[in-house]
Amino acid sequence: MSRKENAASLVQDYAEVFICPVCGDTVEVVELKSVVCPKRHTFDFAKQGYINISTRSMKVNYDKELFAARENIIMKHKLYDPLHTRLLEVIKVEAANNPRSLLLDAGAGEGSHLAKILDQMKTVTGIGIDISKEGIRLAASKSEKAMWLVGDLANIPVKDQSLHTIINILSPANYQEFKRVLIENGLMIKVVPGANYLIELRDTILEEQKRFFTNEETISLFKQHYSDVQIEELTYTKELHQEELRDLIKMSPLSWNAEQESINEVRNREHFGITIDLAILIGKNR
Ligand SMILES: [Zn+2]
Repeated sequence: MSRKENAASLVQDYAEVFICPVCGDTVEVVELKSVVCPKRHTFDFAKQGYINISTRSMKVNYDKELFAARENIIMKHKLYDPLHTRLLEVIKVEAANNPRSLLLDAGAGEGSHLAKILDQMKTVTGIGIDISKEGIRLAASKSEKAMWLVGDLANIPVKDQSLHTIINILSPANYQEFKRVLIENGLMIKVVPGANYLIELRDTILEEQKRFFTNEETISLFKQHYSDVQIEELTYTKELHQEELRDLIKMSPLSWNAEQESINEVRNREHFGITIDLAILIGKNR
């Protein structure tokens, strides 16, 4: 089977979960080519194995180079491996109860986090959604254990209470929609930066008043939406060599507001110690 047919066959296997993104009716997979609803709204699988359900085209502030850098940082340089290890432990507990557990990565980008997590899970199937077609195109070639969608987080094309776990890593949330699609007691996991996230980079390239930020509001909003909330802090440092450092700068939104001169200064360092400081917010959907 081609990659496209593989992807279509996975969606077919879970067709009862999906709804038409236009009218909300049930859908079926036709000839391993398209997803179609009774009103004939039709979404074709791309040859890379994803579906574009986005109803509006949107210019996003990401590009190929940024996704390539993110992919290197996550897959090759393994900067977020301690995060994946912890997420796997948490997700496995939920997945143990269900042989057809569905894990949504909301804001999956180029799919690296989800692909790495699914690689180490036997019974879980993924759904990766992102508004960036460029990102999802790369994602679809990375893992065949997930169904990849180009679409809006405000309109996730699945039935109410049909997903078991949602991860939302360093990416904006849409709690109203997340609550709709998660099963009762389903697991919501959001990863946000802590005060010392990439602090060395921020201290070097940002003006003083832009260096400080706090995740207090994000945490308080999360607590309003979910029950039994646990907050785990995960902090570690890594010595980056030049190639890793350059990829990190490329993928980092921090560098968008920085002076080119100070970015260049950092880019030319042979080594650079970096702190990854994250808060993992875990809650139950009730
Ligand atoms: Zn429809």
